[in-house]
Amino acid sequence: MADYKFITYELLDEGKIARIMLNRPEARNAQNRGLLVELNDAFLAAEADDQVRVVILGGNGKMFSSGHDMGSKVAMEEFSGPTPHFSRNINGGTRDGNENLTLQEWHYYFQNTLRWRNLRKITIAQVHGPVFAAGLMLMWACDLIVAAEDTQFADVVATRLGMMGVEYFAHPWEFGPRKAKELLLTGDALGVDEAYAMGMVSKVFPQDQLSEKTLDFARRIATLPTQAALLVKEAVNQSQDNMGFTNALNACFTIHELNHSHWAIKSDGQRWVAVSDFDEGVQDWRTAPPVLNAKKTEVGG
Ligand code: ZN
Repeated sequence: MADYKFITYELLDEGKIARIMLNRPEARNAQNRGLLVELNDAFLAAEADDQVRVVILGGNGKMFSSGHDMGSKVAMEEFSGPTPHFSRNINGGTRDGNENLTLQEWHYYFQNTLRWRNLRKITIAQVHGPVFAAGLMLMWACDLIVAAEDTQFADVVATRLGMMGVEYFAHPWEFGPRKAKELLLTGDALGVDEAYAMGMVSKVFPQDQLSEKTLDFARRIATLPTQAALLVKEAVNQSQDNMGFTNALNACFTIHELNHSHWAIKSDGQRWVAVSDFDEGVQDWRTAPPVLNAKKTEVGG
């Protein structure tokens, strides 16, 4: 078994269930490059293993994932330290201008996530706490989502970074088009009850039973013949693709990179809204007030 630094990988029930846990609780499971590369390795290991039927993806600590790592020491060293992460020297990492960022994000944010969505195994995201921005991407890549009672979902990159949404732009498909606009334009969070009502979340469990109940849920699915399970997944995914899912995501990834280019031109290479531009109405993400609940907030309505 690979020796992972940022995740854990375990096989349960005679290898029928693989459980991957994001394991940076001290950093709120923020996604640094090393974590994403390890996560891809783990998903591919589970896919390759013929014993594995269901894959659970969860997070250790207070929350599933707070999103992309925006500047921890670990992430900074991976990016520009004396020994950068190996992935900074391939897949566009040595190119200049917007080509660099576009290729790096295409490989490590967009195609990684799409690859996990198309994994040849049934996947379950086990989420808790605030699931913000790129935390949504990991969760949405999974076939099913189960959540603890305290979970809330928000993409705050428009209100806090001046970006139109995360790289894997599944928002209209998951929230519905109008709700997606509202949540992105306000940065408000969807509560777990609303997420359950709209079908994004399959089960809601008490936090202290989340791990055990998710495992029970996975066990039910693991009893299906593997071919039936995979073809259920594939039939739904192909139906969604015939409605335009993957093409729309490709288009929106391009729009996302256009948004980065805007800030790069305007803010001397900074890839998202610069500190000097906060007066344009974007909240400084380091000091922004808490995210409001989309249902209960009285702000603006
Ligand atoms: Zn981006």
